[in-house]
Amino acid sequence: MKGKSLIHKNWEEAFHWEGCPLCYLVQKALRSYMENFLYENVNDVLLRKSIREKGGFCENHHLQLLTFRDFLGISIIYEDIIKNCIIPSLKNKEIPETKSCIFCEKEEEYEKLYIQSLSEVLKNQETFNLWKEIAYDFCQPHKEKIKTISPDTYKRIEPYLYHKKRKYPEYFYESFSWDKDYSELFLKKLRILELKKPK
Ligand SMILES: [Zn+2]
Ligand SMILES: [Zn+2]
Repeated sequence: MKGKSLIHKNWEEAFHWEGCPLCYLVQKALRSYMENFLYENVNDVLLRKSIREKGGFCENHHLQLLTFRDFLGISIIYEDIIKNCIIPSLKNKEIPETKSCIFCEKEEEYEKLYIQSLSEVLKNQETFNLWKEIAYDFCQPHKEKIKTISPDTYKRIEPYLYHKKRKYPEYFYESFSWDKDYSELFLKKLRILELKKPK
């Protein structure tokens, strides 16, 4: 039998998440993109140019970036935004505005990528049963996105959604996605449960 792709394994991991599986996948991917951005790509000339042109980041992603406590990386980026977007706008007597945000764009890219792979992943009967039995419901915005991007997948999962558990990770970990990397906390919990499982 052919081995499962990485994206397939990611989906199966997300079905264990106590909340929307797609939020889990997207937040986890975005978190590692941001980490990479701060540690390796802060001096990437093209990326910096694109951030300046977009006028910085949206409010949520500003906050999320601060949670990494990488003050050097953040200072470099902010100095650039202040010098090249905020001060020139103020000199023109305009209120500086964010036009778009590279992290929002990335988030959308990840959402699309994962949604497009879902129909293939659910063709595997074992994976489909796993989803049916343990996965929590998708959040409303993600249901809408699945409906738009992959209507056939939505048709297949819709009859089961009504019975699904609905919980939001904030209640478990007392944190919002931009507070801390809650997917890490969750993976630790999963590993502990695996260890406790009778052999
Ligand atoms: Zn979601
Ligand atoms: Zn954003």
